[in-house]
Parts: sequence; C-alpha cells; structure tokens
Amino acid sequence: MVLSGHCLCKAVTYTIDVDKPAAVAYDHSLVAVVPKDKLTVKGPTKSWAGVGSSGKAVHRVFCSECGSPIAHDPDAAPEIIAIKAGTLDTEIKKKLQPDTEIWTVSKLPFCQEHLAHPFEHMPQ
Ligand SMILES: [Zn+2]
Repeated sequence: MVLSGHCLCKAVTYTIDVDKPAAVAYDHSLVAVVPKDKLTVKGPTKSWAGVGSSGKAVHRVFCSECGSPIAHDPDAAPEIIAIKAGTLDTEIKKKLQPDTEIWTVSKLPFCQEHLAHPFEHMPQ
C-alpha cells in the first residue's frame, strides 16, 4: 500500500511508498513520521525554516497556492519527515493508530487522551 495525500486546493499531492508510517503521533497536531526517501511530492511548495529544539533548522513545507501545511522537515533527523497527517487521504487517516505524543510539556489542559509513548519534548 502507498500512503497518499494532498493540500487543501490539491495543487500539491504526494505519495509515500510505505505500508504505514514509522510513527503516528500527536505533536499537538497529528503527524505521520515517514522515511524521507519514500516520499514523493508533486506540485508547488515553499518552505520556511525556523530553529527547532535541537538548535538546527526545521523546514516547514507548505502549498504555495493555498498555504496548507504539508510537512515538517527537521535537519536534526534528515532521514525522516513529519507529514501533517490532516493532509492524508480520508480513508488512510481513518486507519491511523496514534501511539506517541510529542511536546506534552505544552499539552493543553483539556487534552485528556494519554498515548503509550509520551515525550515532554522532541524525542532524540
Ligand atoms: Zn494547495
């Protein structure tokens, strides 16, 4: 099976040649961590680099037409990329099984779900 998704306006589409993500996590948005070399993106994107908790750049990739966030691409872990899982196709999203929470240090108090693998900050 190949994972696939798109931005809001569908100018950007992508496929990931894996059966399932390496991790599905709440980064207090839902992300699907996948091997970067399995990801194929088609369509116009831009990115903006901010500094992550590692001190290295995190490239926020988004559709240059509608602005939908597509992925976070951290220089600190160049082999992976965190797909914004809200952009996955609906039938694929329904099958995701989140088991990891990242940045629980800033978890909002009304978020009551506790997943099996919590991390106060970004896992190393
Ligand atoms: Zn778009």
